[in-house]
Amino acid sequence: MEKLLAGVRKFHDHEQRQYTGLFRRLSRDGQDPHTLFITCADSRVIAELITQSQPGDLFVVKNIGNIVPPANVTGSTNSTAAAIEFAVSLLRVQDVVVCGHSQCGAIAALLHGLPPEVPETSSLHAWLALAAPVHAALQTRHSPLQSQAERTAAATEENVLLALENLRTYPSVQKRLRDGTLRLHGWIFHIATATVHAYDPASDRFLPLTFPQHTPPTGA
Ligand code: ZN
Repeated sequence: MEKLLAGVRKFHDHEQRQYTGLFRRLSRDGQDPHTLFITCADSRVIAELITQSQPGDLFVVKNIGNIVPPANVTGSTNSTAAAIEFAVSLLRVQDVVVCGHSQCGAIAALLHGLPPEVPETSSLHAWLALAAPVHAALQTRHSPLQSQAERTAAATEENVLLALENLRTYPSVQKRLRDGTLRLHGWIFHIATATVHAYDPASDRFLPLTFPQHTPPTGA
């Protein structure tokens, strides 16, 4: 707690002033984030840092393993549904990013099971069971994978693709996709190199994220 309080104090003493105008405007006008960013609760994946976003830019959902349950999963197993509906229907974000990451504990648990001290009936078991289709995808789309590292990397990718597929089961998302006002993206953040790969539907692979070229205005 000392570290947290020291951070709040540091923000108050050194950073707060530069954000005064922005927060006043966000308080007055409300938030208008452009992107729903669904990523893992892992402490090493910081959406705002890797996208250099400002307050008001991203509507962030962090959960174990950046899982998106299908729309027909209701109740306490799917709190993510409320965030999706709020961001897509009310805030009308233009983009949804599902961002998985390397060395994900949820992916490890999916492949190798949870430690025995976690009871079978726990919320963690129920939550991870939502990503069980990743196993079938590994069999059909990635066999034969030899090394542990290959299987883990493939499972991380398939988990993001499953989340995107499940996103499409939400009526709010379906409507916005039909209207052509929403885009879905699959990303993977590689922790050791701090780089982002994005799913490329044309090649059906995750490739290093490419950036739009800035063309200088003509005649300048
Ligand atoms: Zn994770």
